[in-house]
Amino acid sequence: MGFFPAQIGLQTVMALIVQKYGGTSVANPERIKKVAERVARFRAQGHQLVVVVSAMSGETDRLIKLAKEIQAQPDPRELDVMISTGEQVTIGMLAMALIERGIPAKSYTGSQVRILTDEAHTKARILEIDEQRMRADLDAGKVVVVAGFQGSTEEGDITTLGRGGSDTTGVALAAALKADECQIYTDVDGVYTTDPRIVPEARRLETITFEEMLEMASLGSKVLQIRSVEFAGKYKVKLRVLSSFEDKNDGTLITFEENTNMEQPIISGIAFNRDEAKLSLLGVPDRPGIAYGILAPVGQANVDVDMIIQNIGVDGSTDFSFTVHRNDYQKTLDLLNNTIKPETGAREVRGDNKICKVSLVGVGMRSHAGVASKMFKTLSEEGINIQMISTSEIKISVVIDEKYMELAVRALHKAFGLDSATPPAKG
Ligand code: ASP
Ligand code: MG
Repeated sequence: MGFFPAQIGLQTVMALIVQKYGGTSVANPERIKKVAERVARFRAQGHQLVVVVSAMSGETDRLIKLAKEIQAQPDPRELDVMISTGEQVTIGMLAMALIERGIPAKSYTGSQVRILTDEAHTKARILEIDEQRMRADLDAGKVVVVAGFQGSTEEGDITTLGRGGSDTTGVALAAALKADECQIYTDVDGVYTTDPRIVPEARRLETITFEEMLEMASLGSKVLQIRSVEFAGKYKVKLRVLSSFEDKNDGTLITFEENTNMEQPIISGIAFNRDEAKLSLLGVPDRPGIAYGILAPVGQANVDVDMIIQNIGVDGSTDFSFTVHRNDYQKTLDLLNNTIKPETGAREVRGDNKICKVSLVGVGMRSHAGVASKMFKTLSEEGINIQMISTSEIKISVVIDEKYMELAVRALHKAFGLDSATPPAKG
């Protein structure tokens, strides 16, 4: 593999690399042996390695299901005790696979490392990492294997970091150890212009900026847990996403510098998600305090609001629409009907949970006008009605009817020149 900063000329300089392997990469003993093989290869090049693993794919789901058979709403502390075990199995297995190859290795759970978190069970945040034990092992020539997704509180209670949290463990360890690179090995070989299952012409990006990656992750592109991307941004961790099944390319590097050359495409990727629902309050009296009167109770009900639109008032009344996560749809609809409508004096409540959000993302937008109009033209040519629009410096999102999602993504991918000349062979 030639992508190392560490490879200067012919001389290989030792680098400290954190590698993280997801659930499909450690799904069975054979795959775990494959991981050990790759780790061995890097080690043979003289690099030091810390390897973070997820639970075998499906294991965390299985454990959550088991918990729910006991308690419909599992006690969060006890749930963490249970669901952190998946990773304890895979660290032991990987360490054994390495030892079996003659490579000194040692596994650690999150609390053994001392990954200190807050007390927010099932979605804890990392506060501090003690790198001393890992450092000592690395200096002694050992490969350090760490359980992803978990840590422990000041009191020693086991916590987990939220689904997909092993990515965050990987990045956090890389930050704490000041690693040269954090490599996230997964079942795709990088970050794509859009989901190749929807657009076969989607292309792998050689690089993507940190800002774009953050947008892509938050907009529903599930390659990396969003918290891990935030972490990487904060601590300037060099992050790379690659395939654990084929070594044919260098994946996607998440960069901090923007590519300033003229070749920089305007749009880097298209994200979409079906997780939202739209709610509207029609005929609301147009007066100060209305937006607050609507959104404060929604916030108090613990519902996060994404897009918000308010019309210009005519005849003293206005229409107010917003989107929420689809899981919160019914709850919010009830709240609007039973409380907010009578309190604000609105005429009517409407809801639609068959919508989706499609977004163009690209730092190139900053220096190019006309992206929005091209997007709207493309959608109108397909006869797709836009229900809501929101923009930021590097993103334009529209809400459309869910049934047009794939059509919209395909048309936009083509219109913005993202299609590859030849579709990649299906693997
Ligand atoms: N095993 C955990 C999950 O499935 C953490 C991870 O895989 O990143 O969410
Ligand atoms: Mg994952």
